[in-house]
Amino acid sequence: MSIETLDVDRSDLEYRAWLNEAVRKVQADANRSADTHLLRFPLPEEWGIDLYLKDESTHPTGSLKHRLARSLFLYGLCNGWIRPGKPVIEASSGSTAVSEAYFAKLIGVPFIAVMAKTTSQAKIDLIEFHGGTCHLVADPAEVYEVSARLAEETGGHYMDQFTYAERATDWRGNNNIAESIFAQLRLEPHPEPTWIVATAGTGGTSATIARYVHYMQYDTLICVADPENSCFFEGWVSHDPSATCDRGSRIEGIGRPRMEPSFVPGAIDRMMKVPDGASIAAIRVLEHQLGKKAGASTGTGLWSALRIVAEMRASGRRGSVVTLICDPGDRYLDKYYSDDWLAGQGIDIAPYQDELEAFLNGTGLLG
Ligand SMILES: *Cc1c(COP(=O)(O)O)cnc(C)c1O
Repeated sequence: MSIETLDVDRSDLEYRAWLNEAVRKVQADANRSADTHLLRFPLPEEWGIDLYLKDESTHPTGSLKHRLARSLFLYGLCNGWIRPGKPVIEASSGSTAVSEAYFAKLIGVPFIAVMAKTTSQAKIDLIEFHGGTCHLVADPAEVYEVSARLAEETGGHYMDQFTYAERATDWRGNNNIAESIFAQLRLEPHPEPTWIVATAGTGGTSATIARYVHYMQYDTLICVADPENSCFFEGWVSHDPSATCDRGSRIEGIGRPRMEPSFVPGAIDRMMKVPDGASIAAIRVLEHQLGKKAGASTGTGLWSALRIVAEMRASGRRGSVVTLICDPGDRYLDKYYSDDWLAGQGIDIAPYQDELEAFLNGTGLLG
């Protein structure tokens, strides 16, 4: 648009036609998609406690990041930040990049993922499958700076999930993850869960769930489970927005070296630190119970949710608890499901697995 007159020049008209078409394609993708299942995790009937898992591994790109990528693309498009022919660049531990590569291909722009070189090969293959390019860096703390620099050099857009996840997501509804969970619980014995347990990478999922619960005036409490080598727990406990951690998390998708802007600590009721061995033991138990493999972040949430179930049981409280299946386990067969990898990392899951099994068959405590 010219400043002096209301004339719109041809390139602006072409851009607006491109923009309308890109938004339509993203919306049409959502319109073709079904909701994800809310699965029941079996617990002894007489406990009067129901545990559910929102299975986010069934999205077209296999993780809860499908929702985030859709929201980030719509936000970036509607803000005029994503432009025809210019690359979208993202700092990612992998899952977001897989989903963003899918949406970039859908609207026809190039995509570059900036990731730590420890990212699983299966995720790198998936990004390339969706037409994206991977730029691997040695130090996971470098991903932000390298992404910003690549955007500058190419005239592209650095999506920056760690800043924008919480604000790009519609927290009041629009079938966000929280609204969907509450709708799916409607006919259950305890439709308003006592607790919802999430994990945090960007912090966007926990922020969306907590805000929605508060907005709807539910009494549900929100717990965030944090793995080893992450600063979220310490930053939350000590109210320190400058908390850092110098080693990268071994649980892909969660645990961060800095307090990400998208993590909203004030909205959360509780945090729990979960040993990596416990997270991985929990996904083995999940497989015994549901016949499904999941990524280790699912185990972090499940371990924490089961500890809350144990507390409710000890105090004679009935009710429901919800956590998430964040992504599928087949991405990590050479990691969390490999005894060699566990041995190499010095992780012994056996004591945690024994503890979980004893708890679930009623012969032991947890935590
Ligand atoms: C991103 C991610 C999470 C955490 O979700 P956020 O909304 O980013 O906090 C958990 N698990 C996996 C596998 C992820 O990719």
